[in-house]
This record gives sequence, structure tokens and C-alpha cells, in this order.
Amino acid sequence: MKDRIDRIISRIDKAVIGSGRKPGSVRLVAASKAISAQQLRLAIDAGVEIFGENYVQEAIQKIEALKGMPIHWHFIGHLQSKKAKYAVRHFDLIHTVDTIKVAFALNQEAKKINKIQDILIQVNVSGESTKSGVSIDCVLSLIKGISSLENLCLRGLMTMPPYADDPEQSRPYFKALAELKASIDRQSIPHIFMNELSMGMTDDFETAIAEGATMVRVGTAIFGERG
Ligand SMILES: *Cc1c(COP(=O)(O)O)cnc(C)c1O
Repeated sequence: MKDRIDRIISRIDKAVIGSGRKPGSVRLVAASKAISAQQLRLAIDAGVEIFGENYVQEAIQKIEALKGMPIHWHFIGHLQSKKAKYAVRHFDLIHTVDTIKVAFALNQEAKKINKIQDILIQVNVSGESTKSGVSIDCVLSLIKGISSLENLCLRGLMTMPPYADDPEQSRPYFKALAELKASIDRQSIPHIFMNELSMGMTDDFETAIAEGATMVRVGTAIFGERG
């Protein structure tokens, strides 16, 4: 585990430097769905600081088991508004907001516990009908809706490109997400300052870094193939 994580961290550092970006400008989110708390402990010992979980119930068990450890929890799975209550109680950043309904639910639950919830918007850049995420055409109206929700803080955008064998096939989607972020920045929407781009996984994180990722979500390269 330690060797695999060291190798990922040095590949990240190399990609960051290779693309002329500031060292430390990309964070590793260890995608830990289906991985036990015991395994996560080893990952923490090896230097992982952020875990990304896909299922609220599964995550809560691990969060309880690892209470007090110096780590952050991100939610990277599909979020239903009925799970909003648990999501705001347990996650530092939610990567996958894609409807105003989910945003409202998160805002309401965050207000109840007096929290400002950090979120990203998941964008379906490819337009595949089976994918979660808001379409590029609808992002701006979603952001405008979110900008009036006082207990949410929008930090940036997230995407998952279509499955591909070759990381070069992901590049246009990463580029499109970075351009979308830049075009939103130019609109100067009140209360919206976005810095984060969550993109890149085991097979394409170096390409994502070259296109401006600030967070990469890596599972298989850290934990091995999921059973
Ligand atoms: C599982 C998962 C990942 C990690 O995928 P790997 O190919 O195993 O690195 C990243 N993002 C999301 C949303 C995931 O569900």
C-alpha cells in the first residue's frame, strides 16, 4: 500500500511540475468505495489525507471507525436529496451536486446544523444520457440558483469522462470543464468564486492535471481492482 501511494504521489508531483504548475496545487482524493476501514488505516499511515466515498451508509460506518484520524471525507457518488441530512453531517466536500433540488436539500440541512457546506457541481460534459451531472447548457442557471443559498459554498466543478482505454480520449472533456470554469469566472456571479476542478482517475489523472485538475480521484491504483 505504502509503495503504491508513494508512486501515485510522485506521479502527481511530476505531472504538476511537468505542466508548469505550482507544487502542491493538486490534491489526491483516495476513492475508497468497497474498501474496509482497516485498509483505509494503512492508506492513512502511508500519507492519504482525503477519502472519497460513493455511498452514504457505507461511508458513515468507516467515518465512525476512523473517528479522530487526521483525514477529510469527500462525497463523490450520486447524491439523492433524501440523503442530504447525512451528507452534510459527515462530508467536508460534496463533489456531485447536479440539480437545484439536491442543492436546496443540502442548504436546508446545513442551515439546521449551522454549517457552510462546500460543494462542487458535477457536469456531464459528454452528454451521455446514462451519466449523472448537469449538462453544460444548464450549468449557469444551476449556479445562479445556488448563489442565493446561504449555507452552500460552491468551490468548483467535477466531471467523469466516458470510459476510455487511452487517457488522450479524456483530454477534450477535461479541457471543456476547465474552459467552462473560466467562462463562469468571467461572468462575475455574486458570491461565486470557484477554484477547484475535480477530474482524473486511475487511468487518466496525469492528463487531467495537465488540463488544470486541482483534485484527482484515484481508487484502483491505490487499493487494487475492486472485487
Ligand atoms: C470509483 C471512482 C473513482 C476512482 O476510479 P479508479 O478508476 O478506480 O481510480 C473516481 N471517481 C468516482 C466518482 C468514482 O466512483
